[in-house]
Amino acid sequence: MGTNKQYHGYESYDYLEAGTDYREVELGELFSGFEPHEVPLSAEEEARLKDLVAQNDVVSLHDHPFYFPKDVHDDIWTYVREGRVHTAYEYLSQSPLDAVFDMHLDGLSGIHSKHGWKWDDIVHDVAMRAADIAHSDFAFRCSSVEDIHRAREEGKVTIVPALESTAMIENELDRLDLLYGLGIRCLGVTYNASNSVGTGQGDIYERDGGLTAFGVDAVERMNKLGMAISTSHSSPQTTLDVCEVTDEPIFDTHALAQTGGMGQRGSSDEELEAIADTGGVIGVLSSTHLPDLETYMDHFEYMVDLVGIDHVAFGPDVLYGDHTALLEVLGEFHGVELPESTMQNPYVKGLENPTEAWNNIPRWLVKNDYPDDEIEKVLGGNVIRVLEEVW
Ligand SMILES: [Zn+2]
Repeated sequence: MGTNKQYHGYESYDYLEAGTDYREVELGELFSGFEPHEVPLSAEEEARLKDLVAQNDVVSLHDHPFYFPKDVHDDIWTYVREGRVHTAYEYLSQSPLDAVFDMHLDGLSGIHSKHGWKWDDIVHDVAMRAADIAHSDFAFRCSSVEDIHRAREEGKVTIVPALESTAMIENELDRLDLLYGLGIRCLGVTYNASNSVGTGQGDIYERDGGLTAFGVDAVERMNKLGMAISTSHSSPQTTLDVCEVTDEPIFDTHALAQTGGMGQRGSSDEELEAIADTGGVIGVLSSTHLPDLETYMDHFEYMVDLVGIDHVAFGPDVLYGDHTALLEVLGEFHGVELPESTMQNPYVKGLENPTEAWNNIPRWLVKNDYPDDEIEKVLGGNVIRVLEEVW
């Protein structure tokens, strides 16, 4: 696929005996249940693409680069409770990614609790993934910008351990240090639910409470630690407050723009501009909200027009497996009906999983004649600029 990835066949937990040492479920496949799509390029464009991805670091600011069960409805809870999430090494080797911010199971971590985000479950997920990645000769965990350059040079992929909420720190500031010690290098302030740090995007009753006083301390601690901060899923006021109090640039690892056509589920221009004003970067979100690569790139172009090419990257937020079935299961589980707009696309054409997304994003940029320096920035350069300051 135009990369020189050095993948030699290690699959997750190969050091154990599946079925004996842990309960095994059948895992999803790269292209099952949907029609793959690749942006067509001329021979000349293919050659340019090859050079671009060989010479520049390619970084995903937000994905879940691991497998879900093939039969999500039947097997998801066995998979989650077993606590052995399988990193998709082989599929990652078929993408040009050098580094990927890996958001883990997040609120789906559910060994002890139905509601997710519990400290023990998060630690279990992060540490178990780390134990597996340590056995891979292809992937390694990322703790420095040098690791990203090294991954590209050696044909490997480096996994940036990240989480989408601080809910599990409860009232313990020192847990931020513990998470850093466990390798986490990027933390979301809140998921959709509020927590002790701030107000969640989906948790506003009559007024938006923004960041808490404890949250101000948490931001300060993350700045001191060298933990990158993301305001994805935070309420508008929380996002603006974090931008105000942080000493370092921040991320919104995955966002869509309200005025770019997302309505209330997107971020306001004010929020996006505030993030850019910290020196930060916004990753463009696909997930299941959009029908195809073209609409995804409309959002990308909208954000570039709004905040400038130095402040935009890509955080597709996709995974390996049947995401529609996963949303159905989660909807049933939490007793919420998912909006029709979320469920209308059984798959996202050209962006259905990290491999497809990350092959097509650079192809689209080449196809649309973006200059080399701009491609370098949005594929990874902008994220690395922020990490050089933060880490
Ligand atoms: Zn998210």
